[in-house]
Amino acid sequence: MVMRYISTRGNSPAQSFTQILLGGLAPDGGLYLPETYPHFGAADLSTMRGMNYRELAYTVLSRFIDDIPAADLRAIIDKTYTPEVYGNARSDEQAADITPLHTLEPGLHLLCLSNGPTLAFKDMAMQLLGNLFEYVLNRAGEDINILGATSGDTGSAAEYAMRGKRGINVYMLSPHNKMSRFQTAQMFSLQDENIHNIAVDGVFDDCQDIVKAVSNDHEFKAKYKIGAVNSINWGRVAAQVVYYFKGYFAATHDNNQQVSFSVPSGNFGNVCAGHIARMMGLPIKHLIVATNENDVLDEFFKTGVYRPRAAAQTYHTSSPSMDISKASNFERFVADLTGRDGAVLRALWEPIDQGGMFDLNQQGWFEQVADYGMVSGASNHASRMETIRDTWEKYGVMIDTHTADGLKVGLEYFEPGVPMIVLETALPAKFDEAIHEALGRAPERPATIGDIENLPQRFTVMRNDVEDIKQFIVSHLAS
Ligand SMILES: *Cc1c(COP(=O)(O)O)cnc(C)c1O
Repeated sequence: MVMRYISTRGNSPAQSFTQILLGGLAPDGGLYLPETYPHFGAADLSTMRGMNYRELAYTVLSRFIDDIPAADLRAIIDKTYTPEVYGNARSDEQAADITPLHTLEPGLHLLCLSNGPTLAFKDMAMQLLGNLFEYVLNRAGEDINILGATSGDTGSAAEYAMRGKRGINVYMLSPHNKMSRFQTAQMFSLQDENIHNIAVDGVFDDCQDIVKAVSNDHEFKAKYKIGAVNSINWGRVAAQVVYYFKGYFAATHDNNQQVSFSVPSGNFGNVCAGHIARMMGLPIKHLIVATNENDVLDEFFKTGVYRPRAAAQTYHTSSPSMDISKASNFERFVADLTGRDGAVLRALWEPIDQGGMFDLNQQGWFEQVADYGMVSGASNHASRMETIRDTWEKYGVMIDTHTADGLKVGLEYFEPGVPMIVLETALPAKFDEAIHEALGRAPERPATIGDIENLPQRFTVMRNDVEDIKQFIVSHLAS
């Protein structure tokens, strides 16, 4: 049976996995979802309990990816999820687990997702995407020019996933002198010829506007095969489903046990993968959506009103990767909640696309949110600092600011008899300033990272000008 992907807005033709892999939004403006979710029954879960990460990844992903031959898919997964790629764990034994579970106290765990090359959970999906892109492009004899804008985590995860890959060029725009020293060093120290760091004289929004302008030039986009790897990419969501299974088996003894996951959330990609794992039969009681001061999602899960903020009302916080105004993957969850009706989704998102809001109380949909196990909470700078300090003093474990938001909100829902798994989404090494403030000392740094700030850097400073950027792309195409 071929797994077909349909748009949440219902007006785009169904596609296969590799047909949607390199694209972004569906032509009708919606997001792709599998027509139905695969399901794992009791017997499947029993078999899966004994699997290592690669076996588990194959078992889950082969249900979503059926237009790549099984042996090839297995080889792609096997070369992605290795202790060498995810080697920044606290010990070698843990690195073999890829996503080790670190128990803080009985029933309270961290699922460590940040041991990849850029020390954030985005590597979990992005590394797989890099290998899938390379495979699909080489098979078709094609190439792609990936254009992106970043304020930190996403850009570096994409660059480390795509570096040295045949048929792939990356042009990553970042605001000149606005990223942290560590983030800058991580990206700019890459010397691979297919990676182009462009430091734009401007702010992050300027970079994003340039990407939008280039993408809206359909002729240019088609001629120079411009692509993206943004957070709505279905491949990224699918790859993230795997570690919910891994975390579940690590935290439980049998498959009758329910667990809850607390997920530091921004674009809703991570927690959307948790929702899909639950739909596939994983015994999840609560999926806890933890936000920072940018609490659009917390407001929705408390009130049923979805009210994305304007850029001017999006705060810059000490958990910057969750500073979002619009949760781009949220539409996938709302599609399931409201019965997968394209007409409903089009009606709901019409005001959103104009900068408005919607209220799911009206048709009784909001009452059904509880059936999906979704609950929420918000954190802020003071609770983040307090949580980092408490975790360090009580357990001797150093966590980053995003994970702190997840732990803080997760503890509000911690109940006897239900293990709580908090997703660790970044390592503290990335957030020097915040760790100094919380603990009065420098963050731990994995030995593999070394003195990255003093490596030679490779980047081009450019004016905030769309034509200049286009010209740069054209003159740096792969030969
Ligand atoms: C991207 C990111 C998040 C938010 O994840 P979403 O999938 O956008 O909800 C949280 N923490 C860190 C460290 C991140 O990089």
